[in-house]
Amino acid sequence: MADNKKTKYIFVTGGVVSSLGKGIAAASIGMLLKSRGLKISMIKCDPYINVDPGTMNPFQHGEVFVLDDGAETDLDLGHYERFLDTNLTRLSNVTSGQIYDAVIQRERQGGYLGATVQVIPHVTNEIKARIAQIAEKYEDVDVVIVEIGGTVGDIESLPFLEAIRQMALEDEDHNTLFIHLTLVPYFEGSGELKTKPTQHSVKALREIGIDPDILICRSPQPLTREVKKKIGLFCNVPPEAVIQDLDVENIYELAIQFHLELLDNLLVHYLKLLCKDLDITQWTATVNRMKNPEHQVRIGICGKYIDLKDAYKSIIEAFLHAGGANKAKVELVWIPSEKISENGPETYLADIDALLVPGGFGERGIEGKIEAVNFVRTHNIPFLGICLGLQCAVIDYARTACGLDEANSSEFAPETKHPVIHLMQEQESVTRKGGTMRLGSYPCRITRGTLAHKLYGALNINERHRHRYEVNNEYRKKLEECGLVCSGIYQEGNLVEIIELPNHPFFIAGQFHPELKSRPMRPHPLFVGLVAAAIIQKSVREEAKEDIEKTIKS
Ligand code: GLN
Repeated sequence: MADNKKTKYIFVTGGVVSSLGKGIAAASIGMLLKSRGLKISMIKCDPYINVDPGTMNPFQHGEVFVLDDGAETDLDLGHYERFLDTNLTRLSNVTSGQIYDAVIQRERQGGYLGATVQVIPHVTNEIKARIAQIAEKYEDVDVVIVEIGGTVGDIESLPFLEAIRQMALEDEDHNTLFIHLTLVPYFEGSGELKTKPTQHSVKALREIGIDPDILICRSPQPLTREVKKKIGLFCNVPPEAVIQDLDVENIYELAIQFHLELLDNLLVHYLKLLCKDLDITQWTATVNRMKNPEHQVRIGICGKYIDLKDAYKSIIEAFLHAGGANKAKVELVWIPSEKISENGPETYLADIDALLVPGGFGERGIEGKIEAVNFVRTHNIPFLGICLGLQCAVIDYARTACGLDEANSSEFAPETKHPVIHLMQEQESVTRKGGTMRLGSYPCRITRGTLAHKLYGALNINERHRHRYEVNNEYRKKLEECGLVCSGIYQEGNLVEIIELPNHPFFIAGQFHPELKSRPMRPHPLFVGLVAAAIIQKSVREEAKEDIEKTIKS
């Protein structure tokens, strides 16, 4: 909205404990303000020294969320994109690694003119400049929501907190606002909500010069008026600015809960925003659809990071969206890929309604995944492969349908006789690990009349990538002669992007990551298709079971 002359900033910090859902709270705020007609952007500041999470083990950091521009970012960016239904850019993830890298590069170039380079002001200035960049680049942004990773009290987030403190100090027109997210635990024994941790957390924040304007309190029980008054009194905010953040069954409900707490009104009032009334009818309808399913299906996910569900965050969300679209509750069945070879695929796959093989790196568990794909292919169970999932499907097909017994990916067997999946030529000389994969959005041309065409309803699509290996074109003809259909191609690079099998109820895989583009109100067609196929598969299976039972009885 052009009326809001200067970009406003909402800074979101967290206290007491980590994992309170700060990213989801920040994203919910963004969604509410967007629904009031404001143009919103978001930034996540991550205090770690890695330049980006691309080189981190998923067990450490969860999923790496890839943006259209190829930036490898924190998984909170996934929440931002899903709640805002917008595509962000690499400007939206700032890490200490990037900040120090920029400061050191400038120092080496003599950019500081002989000064001693220090955290204050040089590092903090760099942080401020990075936060301001979005508003400079996109002039029509009304509000930038900046989430500071970590918990107040951490040493490593101090420069970020100092930078936002300075931003507020330098702002004379009420263009900045601080929201602090804390925990209000409930003691079963005394039947009480405890406000002390919140008081301490706010105290720690005030010691570094930040006075929160609004407190969001995560709590297992509703905050009574008395509790809100008490927190307000001790933390120097009016009780109306103490917002409850109750556990929700579906994360997209949180925005609705915040609206019922009048949070969007408060923000509009505090920041003097000119905007229209809220309209979240469609959002509410979408959430209600997800919460009131008519069907239930069980979909297997066969991977090696299954002990940490955050490693598959966007996949879990994509299933929630696709479940809503199909009026189905999708129960995810986590299948350890390493155990498949040991116990046999039927142990895990005989009674699931569909299988998804997600992305992954390295050899561990790979043969189990290949066996799993073979099982669902030969038992007509619906299948969706993502990235490594596509590569496993090609390896299985080459081995069992094309007679290339030793087919493999050169990632796992560099000397294999049949490298049906191999390193792209431009990857061969790459030695640096960070940011060097095939990353970000690429166009894909779909073949008319294929399952991919039917699902997407389009012939030209764009999807996001994060991988080094590809289908080896030297084997394409052979695979196609044996019945595999390469239904999506990146034409400029002549690379296979989608494969499918026409003589199977639902068998499709993409070299990209569709889960990164699924949104609650725009679920991804491949996930919608898989869930729909799973519903059919379930009824087919149940009918077959009934038939068998009848035959036995008669
Ligand atoms: N390891 C495979 C590759 O680099 C697959 C990557 C992925 O699934 N994202 O090509």
